[in-house]
Amino acid sequence: MKNFELLLPKTVDEATGALPKDDAFEERRKVKVLAGGQDLLTEMKEHLEEPETLVNLKQIPGLDRIVPLPDGGIEIGALVTVAALEREPWIRQHFPMLAEAAESVGSPQIRSAGTVGGNLCQRPRCWYYRNELVLCLKKGGTECFAYEGLNQHNAILGGGPSYIVHPSDLAPAFVAYDARVTLTGPDGERDMPLDEFFMLPSDGDVTKETRLGPNEIVTKLTIHGSRDAWHATYMKVRERDAFDFAMSAVALALRMDGGTIREARLTLGGVAPKPWRCKSTEGKLAGRKVDDATCALAGEDALRGAEPLEYNEYKIPMTQGLITKALRKLAETA
Ligand SMILES: Cc1cc2nc3c(=O)[nH]c(=O)nc-3n(C[C@H](O)[C@H](O)[C@H](O)COP(=O)(O)OP(=O)(O)OC[C@H]3O[C@@H](n4cnc5c(N)ncnc54)[C@H](O)[C@@H]3O)c2cc1C
Repeated sequence: MKNFELLLPKTVDEATGALPKDDAFEERRKVKVLAGGQDLLTEMKEHLEEPETLVNLKQIPGLDRIVPLPDGGIEIGALVTVAALEREPWIRQHFPMLAEAAESVGSPQIRSAGTVGGNLCQRPRCWYYRNELVLCLKKGGTECFAYEGLNQHNAILGGGPSYIVHPSDLAPAFVAYDARVTLTGPDGERDMPLDEFFMLPSDGDVTKETRLGPNEIVTKLTIHGSRDAWHATYMKVRERDAFDFAMSAVALALRMDGGTIREARLTLGGVAPKPWRCKSTEGKLAGRKVDDATCALAGEDALRGAEPLEYNEYKIPMTQGLITKALRKLAETA
């Protein structure tokens, strides 16, 4: 690993003041934010990132808090660990989909060190991106090698010109709960729906997955309003049982009235370069009972527009099966 300078700011202002103002690819890479290090340190050991300076956020007080809001919602600091999200009784009771998504992340060690902010900002797991010898689009190259290469784990929705899938398990669950993200920089805070924080490769700079500015950090996630009337679940298929990233994942929340769906929120993971919110499917589920026809309609609608690559067509029936499983589970427990 290349030598680097380690900064230990005590305030958000100090941290963001140390970050570059210039969003150019090479400038951005000179100074990196460090949280739990579960992704970034791996990238550095594998020479994918070789920053001159690391800005470690872990000594900034207050960013590791989970705060219930008076409206029944919740505020979750960027330094809250994935393990805390998994274990916190209040979250398990009122936001079970977050706890389920958290407990599906990696191994206990990764969850203990990894943070919510780092999980949302982690970089892609595509084999070509992770190979230090390959200069792919995500690393400033001119080609997505997965497009005509070994693409079994790549995108079937929203791909092009890069075909990565977003690796985060927390992101689809937060998006399905309509979470907002707060970004803080030298000019203050801005907040936006988490869904809009993530970018498709075709949205602009293909080397980025989010709208985070070069001198901004994620400071918190907020879910406004109670979700107690909702039944929600996060389900994931992975290649290896012990710990692995999602080949496909479904974050589903339903507000039921007897056996009828009143409102639905559906976000897919592991199939697109960003958490894939299925707004059209959500609208079609409203007013329906959970039966075979509804499960078929949901699966068909959510995967409409899928454009599988040579080796990943299996993700279509896999995701449709997960949607059915999630709908049935929630209907049974409602
Ligand atoms: C073997 C293995 C298995 C894994 N399995 C899974 C899995 O199944 N599901 C899953 O979702 N993840 C998985 N991960 C990824 C890991 O869990 C997440 O990357 C972890 O939550 C990252 O958090 P961190 O705090 O360690 O981030 P870091 O490694 O510190 O940072 C990750 C990235 O986010 C940026 N960053 C961190 N915090 C902030 C912030 N507050 N504001 C702006 N940028 C920030 C960093 O600059 C860096 O680019 C796995 C990782 C490994 C090594």
